[in-house]
Amino acid sequence: MQIIDTHCHYNLEPLYSGDPFCFKVKENDPILKMNWQDHWKKAQEHGVTKSVVVGPGLSSSQKAVEIASNNEGLFAAVGIHPERANKIIDIDQAMIELEKLAKNKKVVAIGETGLDYFYLKTDDQNEFEEIKQRQEKLFIGQIKLAQKLNLSLILHVRDKEENAYHQALKIIEKYWQFNNSLIFHCVSGPTSYIEKALAFKKSYFGFDGNITFKKAEEIREIFKLVQKTDSKKILLETDAPYLAPEPHRGQVCEPLMIIETANYLEKNLEANLKEIYQNSLDAFGI
Ligand SMILES: [Zn+2]
Repeated sequence: MQIIDTHCHYNLEPLYSGDPFCFKVKENDPILKMNWQDHWKKAQEHGVTKSVVVGPGLSSSQKAVEIASNNEGLFAAVGIHPERANKIIDIDQAMIELEKLAKNKKVVAIGETGLDYFYLKTDDQNEFEEIKQRQEKLFIGQIKLAQKLNLSLILHVRDKEENAYHQALKIIEKYWQFNNSLIFHCVSGPTSYIEKALAFKKSYFGFDGNITFKKAEEIREIFKLVQKTDSKKILLETDAPYLAPEPHRGQVCEPLMIIETANYLEKNLEANLKEIYQNSLDAFGI
């Protein structure tokens, strides 16, 4: 079996250097002795031939570029995650920095970018609005940058309700020109949103380890809808170190665990892994 992990974070801890960071890892866990090279080697031994290392922030994007630069099968995406919107002091300056990074020849996409209202507290309405505005400014900036540099765009959209999904669509329809791939990473959201996204030219949908979770019926339904509409739009990702598939849920997701998600999809949802492999090559032109 050959697999491409279209979204993972070798650039984040504990994968990068074995620093437990904010994960609960036992002291004697072998993962603390591993760095990203070890994880990449292990993943390759399990049939992962290529991976896209995605930057949720400026310093991790820089790391993604460095990682990809010296490794044939690794590619980079540079971007600023919407949850960082409040930490970026000067958004215009951040866009200039991002553009510098994005000019590296191993960069295949801008992202992850989008809207994330999941953890936003709504008790202070002014603050809520301000953060939303900042997320939008970052999102639109990154859309424009992807267009300028002729790169794909990796979207992260998440909300407990439907607002972020509908707002993201509005922004995409207004600013994105649909010349390059538009990747709905770790896809979630209401059916009307998925249907619209499916109708977009060059849209792709990334599925992660959370599709194996017992209560993930909604994500499995999205998978079936994409499969039925156009199975050439399906991609496979880990989002490692996050979203470890069953039976590893709650642990650090190691990139090689993509095998388990792939097996699950093949067995339970009749996924065509060969086709998904080709879709990944097409989506990123790698
Ligand atoms: Zn991610």
